[in-house]
Order: sequence, then C-alpha cells, then structure tokens
Amino acid sequence: MSLVDYPESDRARELAKRTRDLMDEVVLPLERDLDPGEAVSESGLRTLREAARDYGVYCPQMPDEYGGMGESFRDSLAVFEEAGRSLLGPPALRVDAPDEGNMHTIEIAGTEEQKQRWLPPLIEGEARSAFSMTEPAPGGGSDPKMIKTTAEKDGDEWVINGHKWWTSNGHEADVFLVMARTDLDAHPYEGCSIFLVPAETDGLELVRDVPAMESSILDLSHAEVRYDNVRVPEENLLGAENEGFTIAQQRLGPARLTHCMRFCGMSDRALAIARAYMQNREAFGSALADKQALRHKIAEQELALHGTRTMTRDAARRVSNGHEARIPVAMCKIRAARMVQETVDIAIQCCGGAGLSRDLPLVDFYEGLRFFRIGDGADEVHLRSIAREAFSDEHVAEEDLKNLPEF
Ligand SMILES: Cc1cc2nc3c(=O)[nH]c(=O)nc-3n(C[C@H](O)[C@H](O)[C@H](O)COP(=O)(O)OP(=O)(O)OC[C@H]3O[C@@H](n4cnc5c(N)ncnc54)[C@H](O)[C@@H]3O)c2cc1C
Repeated sequence: MSLVDYPESDRARELAKRTRDLMDEVVLPLERDLDPGEAVSESGLRTLREAARDYGVYCPQMPDEYGGMGESFRDSLAVFEEAGRSLLGPPALRVDAPDEGNMHTIEIAGTEEQKQRWLPPLIEGEARSAFSMTEPAPGGGSDPKMIKTTAEKDGDEWVINGHKWWTSNGHEADVFLVMARTDLDAHPYEGCSIFLVPAETDGLELVRDVPAMESSILDLSHAEVRYDNVRVPEENLLGAENEGFTIAQQRLGPARLTHCMRFCGMSDRALAIARAYMQNREAFGSALADKQALRHKIAEQELALHGTRTMTRDAARRVSNGHEARIPVAMCKIRAARMVQETVDIAIQCCGGAGLSRDLPLVDFYEGLRFFRIGDGADEVHLRSIAREAFSDEHVAEEDLKNLPEF
C-alpha cells in the first residue's frame, strides 16, 4: 500500500483494489511457486488471465466492443501500477508491452476492418504483436529520421524492404506494425507510414532473437528482422499514408506513461520486500529496520516514488484532456526509469545476499528494468528535447538577460 493517498476517482480506486486483491491472492502466489529462473508457462498465463477476468480487471484500457472494459486512461493508471508489482501482472491483465501499445495504436489509427481482425484476438491473448521501428546502423535508432526501411506502392500492394532489430515479441508475434519510408522526397517525419504485416507473409525473415539482458520469469524475445520484398495489400496501411510518425507520437505518449506506472508498482513492491527483510534480519544487536542509514535509504526512495507517481498522474491528466504533453511525458520517462533502477538496486542492497538470489524477485526486476533507460527513447534523447525547449526563445526572457553583469 503506497504511503501517500492519491485523489483518484471512485472508479479508479475500485479497479485498483480489485487489482491488488488479484495480485495478492493469485499472481504473487504463482510467482512464488515458480522455480528460481523458471519462466511462466502458457497455461500458467491462461490461468492468470482467467483470474483477471474473474476479478473484473482484464484489459481495462481497451474498448468493450472488442473485449476490453472500456475504462478511461486515467482510471486505468492505478491498475497499471498495481499490475507492475509482479512481472507476471501486466501479461495477466493484458496491460503488457508491447501488445498494450500496439492495441492502442490499432485502436486509434485502424480502420474498422483492421480493428475487427486484430483487436479481439490480441485482447483475448490468442494473438501477439510487435512494433518494428528500430534499425541497426546505419538505420534509425535514437534518431528515427535515419530510418532506411522503405515501402513502395506497386499496383494495389505495398512492397516493404528493410532491416530491423529490437522488435520485441518478434518471435511470438502474429502481426508486425512496421514503420517504413513511403515518400523519399519528404522529411522522414512527414514521409513515413506504418503497415500491418502478418507474421506468415513471404519475405519476412526472423534472423535471430537478440540475446538481451532480460528477466527470466517471462519468455520475451527481441527479434532481428529482415523485410525482403514483403508484399501487403494496400488495406494493410495503418492510418493515413505518410502519417506514421504522428501516429507513433500518439502511441508513445500514453505508452510511456503506462510504463512509468508499471515501474512505480515494481518500485513499491521492491521497497515492501526490503522492509520485510529488514524487519526480520538482525545485525550488530538490532534489526536492520532500526539502522538509521538503511531507514533513510528507504525513505529517500519513497520520496522519489511519490515524485514519479505525482508527475505521471499530472502528465496523464494533460494527455487525457488532449493538451500538449510532450515535455511532461519526457520528464516522467526519465524520472521513472532512474527511480526504479535506483530503488531496486537499494532494495537488493538492503536484502544482502538474499537480494541477489532468485529466491526473491528483485534480480528479475533488475534485469527487466534496465532497458527502460534506453527503450522508448534513451534518457539523453529525452533530455535533448527538454533542453531544446528550455533554451528556446520562449523560455529565455529579455528580463533575465538584463540581469547579467556587463564586462
Ligand atoms: C529491451 C529492448 C526492447 C526494445 N523494443 C523495441 C521494440 O519493440 N520496437 C522497436 O522499434 N525498438 C525497440 N527497442 C529499441 C529502442 O527503442 C532503441 O534501442 C532506442 O531507441 C535507442 O536506439 P539505439 O539502440 O539505436 O541507440 P543509438 O541511437 O545507437 O544510441 C546509443 C546511445 O547514445 C546516446 N545518445 C543518443 N542520442 C544522443 C544525443 N543526442 N545526445 C547524447 N547522447 C545520445 C544514448 O545514451 C543512447 O542509448 C528496444 C530496445 C531494448 C533495449
């Protein structure tokens, strides 16, 4: 239970309570039953998803006509956080990346036919999806303008050629959302489009699963993929032609905030585990929980967690109200990634050797969180956006220039 109470709606509180019950009564016991290093099985995941339905918190963020619950983004936030208390929570509730962001992208940009085809099986958990944008050098990475993958129109088909990697879920996906250049004369931000490419399409080659630092409790893959004359019908264009980056931005804002909330949940659980350990373990004549040096570490992380939660709620309010939120979202993304890394590291430290054993979930947390300072835009890329804004004419006032000493 978080130290600070937040002014959520009654609905959000109810959803959060149900999620916490599900996590405490079903998800955490299953997590504990797994052997150290063992990944959850497909049948284990199915059991968790049935339980999430029974508790009334399955896929809250998606519209009910496709199988979700139709809850608002803001009311779903606390659910994301509660689910984040275990790495098994997000897939259990079907609020897991990248499917959650992909479903949202299809929801906001897809035609009715695309939504009918892909959303029900994705929501149900029968289908998986991947977002294929990042490319190895010399293609697009931190600087997505460097994108090299192309899609050319040929009659009523698009022909995609390119080389991607870090396509999460690549080996499991039934459908790939592929970003490609469709107008080579335009600036890439105005000349790229997203395509829905079914996994079985000729020319789509899964080169390998990139061996990555990753938690062991989930069987996640990050694929290197080649698209070699991959042909899809024109109706597989997702959203308008050349609007790929606009759609990606609409996806990334909320998707980054849902990540932030899941990592707040992870931090909350890491602190709870550390406190429990410290209360039960003595050294030098008293419980670790009585050592001021350690108590302050925990207090510092509670402080950081509260700051991150508050920032994330503020950014979510702006996104929900349709306000420009690029900078607040960038700030949340950096803050949450740093905060969870520091918090889990401190929790491990406070638990001593037990912290580094796979008897506790902290090692899995540690392995699972590191990507967040790189994926969805590295810290430096978000700092670049914030700095650009901070140094813009709008924020450097004439009045302040007058305060400078003259030499
Ligand atoms: C686990 C994981 C999952 C991922 N999943 C997906 C996915 O599903 N789909 C997808 O398309 N991509 C995915 N990615 C890719 C991710 O979005 C990219 O790794 C990220 O955008 C950085 O691109 P890059 O790896 O090419 O780094 P590079 O562009 O090579 O940059 C390397 C480093 O340089 C620094 N840097 C970059 N620009 C600047 C600057 N202006 N100033 C100072 N420093 C800078 C940053 O520290 C950065 O980490 C995933 C990555 C990981 C690790």
